[in-house]
Amino acid sequence: MHIQCLGAAGRVTGSCHLVQAGDSRILLDCGLIQGSRREHELNREPFPFDVKRIDAVVLSHAHIDHSGRIPLLVRQGYTGPIYAHTATQALCDIMLRDSGYIHEQDAARYNRRHRDDGQPAIEPLYTAADADVAMKQFRSVRYHRKFAVTPSIRVRYRDAGHILGSCIVELWLSEHGEERKLVFSGDLGHSNAPVLRNPDVVQSADVVLMESTYGDRNHRSWDETRAEVEEIVEIGRSAKGNILIPAFAVGRTQLLLYWMARNYQHAHLARWQIILDSPLAIRATSVYSDYINLLDDEARELWQSTDIESALPNLRVTRTADESRELNFIKSGAIIIAGSGMCNGGRIRHHLAQNISRRECHVIIAGFQAAGTPGRALVEGAKHLRLFGEDIPVRAKIHTIGGLSAHAGQAELLAWYDGFQNRPPLILVHGEPQAQEALQNLIRRDTGGPVHIARQGEIFDLQKPIPFSSSY
Ligand SMILES: [Zn+2]
Ligand SMILES: [Zn+2]
Repeated sequence: MHIQCLGAAGRVTGSCHLVQAGDSRILLDCGLIQGSRREHELNREPFPFDVKRIDAVVLSHAHIDHSGRIPLLVRQGYTGPIYAHTATQALCDIMLRDSGYIHEQDAARYNRRHRDDGQPAIEPLYTAADADVAMKQFRSVRYHRKFAVTPSIRVRYRDAGHILGSCIVELWLSEHGEERKLVFSGDLGHSNAPVLRNPDVVQSADVVLMESTYGDRNHRSWDETRAEVEEIVEIGRSAKGNILIPAFAVGRTQLLLYWMARNYQHAHLARWQIILDSPLAIRATSVYSDYINLLDDEARELWQSTDIESALPNLRVTRTADESRELNFIKSGAIIIAGSGMCNGGRIRHHLAQNISRRECHVIIAGFQAAGTPGRALVEGAKHLRLFGEDIPVRAKIHTIGGLSAHAGQAELLAWYDGFQNRPPLILVHGEPQAQEALQNLIRRDTGGPVHIARQGEIFDLQKPIPFSSSY
């Protein structure tokens, strides 16, 4: 009975863990590695297991860093079930196809560029058609119901409060009459943030696998965050520039739209043109409205009583590339929300190219930026950004608003672990080393719990004590 950490070990993206009990082998997540181009290339390496021997995939949530290699797995011969929350399945249906389309475009661009220098043409990592095939293997599941994934592995999903349909995964593993309970946090939401409920507290486990994205930082409260955003909007208005918000299509966009709808009068948003420049985010927002029963009470009430068009009458959604290009002519008075969230692709790059050299413009960073991405460079105060082959000076004001994040901050991670009554051994994943070490020290100090930072490929035998070697 063991678990092997095959991704998101010492980094934030590429979540993938192999769980084995008895004759069963399942994957917890099968996510895409995101970051620099070099890191992206790691997605092309063969899976370090026999794809055909996997019995099931259990997916925590729809974000691409958790789901994005599923079509690749299917293309390489995986024919088994992919379990996911009902809302996760609906989101994956649009996100994986979009991801396949992006891989097709990337490969075509690369091949065009290298046609004349004798390099062999590359294949897309996978295609939109591969994503369609993978979707047929999805099996939808709800929260709080235990189900058998294989004869020796049972699973129950709990609400992780991170994005729509996001799950904490409880797993009961059995082998030769012995049982162990493993709990995988998935990505944990930011408590008391609007739109979603707080992450469920789980009280017992033999071993816990927990994310640690913000292991070294606390977020401000939602009230402080709201005041911070309002102030930027006010400064942006008097500066007479645009405000850009790179946002993940799923999660951050809906939180921002909700904030705008709630604060439309108070933040004087009628004076702005609000532009949602992401076809994927538009589709994801409509999935949120299909599942309002999963939202927190306030958000459910708002969306039950009004629709987005009435709540935000000056919201413009731009679907086509031509409509998006027209936005280049707007020099002032626009709040533009566009993907990708880490600025390593998508339409936001065009808006950055148009706006970041202008002092009167503002950029609001609303989510985690992985190492190696242009978004991370902006957060770290880069003076120039390379976009479309050009070095563009950064003169716009960059604001990093941690309170808009979809992830639990340090104190919330500690509190979630503290919810376990028996101080189970804790393995940290989904974090950069600095964040993980800070969290490890804090949890040891405050709870005395045994904490280990997973290394890539590390195997843990769940019937033996977990080796808490690292920096002990
Ligand atoms: Zn996530
Ligand atoms: Zn994640």
